[in-house]
Amino acid sequence: MLKIQKLHKSYPIGETSLHVLKGIDLSVEKGEMVAIMGSSGSGKSTFLNIIGMLDEADDGEYILDEVPIKNLNEKKAAIYRNKFLGFIFQSFNLINYKNALENVSLPLYYQGIKRKERQNTAKFYLEKVGLLDWALHLPSELSGGQKQRVAIARALASNPKLILADEPTGALDSNTSCDIMAFLQRLNTEEGKTILIVTHEKDIANMCKRIVRLKDGVILEDKFINQVIANPNA
Ligand code: ADP
Ligand code: MG
Repeated sequence: MLKIQKLHKSYPIGETSLHVLKGIDLSVEKGEMVAIMGSSGSGKSTFLNIIGMLDEADDGEYILDEVPIKNLNEKKAAIYRNKFLGFIFQSFNLINYKNALENVSLPLYYQGIKRKERQNTAKFYLEKVGLLDWALHLPSELSGGQKQRVAIARALASNPKLILADEPTGALDSNTSCDIMAFLQRLNTEEGKTILIVTHEKDIANMCKRIVRLKDGVILEDKFINQVIANPNA
C-alpha cells in the first residue's frame, strides 16, 4: 500500500533549521491498522501530513499504491489525495455552516459527482456511522463523538484506499474514544480498509494491529501486537 524510504524533513527556524524526520523507513501493506506513536513534537503529524500529501518531504522515497509521490504539483497532489486518501483530524475540521449531509457530500462535489449521487452517497455513509437521523443538523448541534462520526463518513465517502487519522480521539472522552476506535476497527477487519492512526495514547495504539514508535526523528520501535478489541459504549 505504501513504501517509504530514507524520508527526511526539516523546518527552517530563522537562520537554522529543525530536523524533524531523520531518515524514516516504513512499509505498510493493504489491510493493516497501524498506530504511529511518539511524544508531543516527535514529528507524528509532520510524518502523517507527508503521507497525506499535505506536505512534502525534503528527501527520500515515497510510493503510494505503486505511484511515486514526488514533485507533484498542487493539482496532481489534490487528485491523488481525493482518489487514495481519507483524512480524520482531532478537531474534526467540519464546516460549521454546513449540515452533516453537506459536510459529507463536499469532497464528492470536488470530484465532479452529480448532486443526486452525492446526496445518495453521503446518506449511505451517514447511515453507516449511525447518523442518518442527524443529516440536517449543523456541527454545533452534534456532540464531539457525533462530529467525529460525520468526519469519518466524509473520509469514507470517496472510498479511499488509505485512511489517515491524526489523534482522532484526542478531543473525545474515553467512552466516546472507544466507540470511534470500535468503528475504525470494524472498517479495518470487515472492509479491509488500511488505516494509519497517529496517537500519543497507549490505549488507543493498543487497539491497532501494529505500533510504530517515533523518537528523535527516527523509528525507535516497530512491532505487531495482539489487537485489543474496543468495547463500544464502554
Ligand atoms: P507531533 O505531531 O508529534 O506533536 P509535529 O509533527 O507537529 O509533532 O511537530 C514536530 C516538530 O516540528 C515540533 O517541534 C514542531 O514545533 C515543529 N513544526 C511542526 N510544523 C512546523 C512548521 N510548519 N514550521 C516550523 N516548525 C514546525
Ligand atoms: Mg501532532
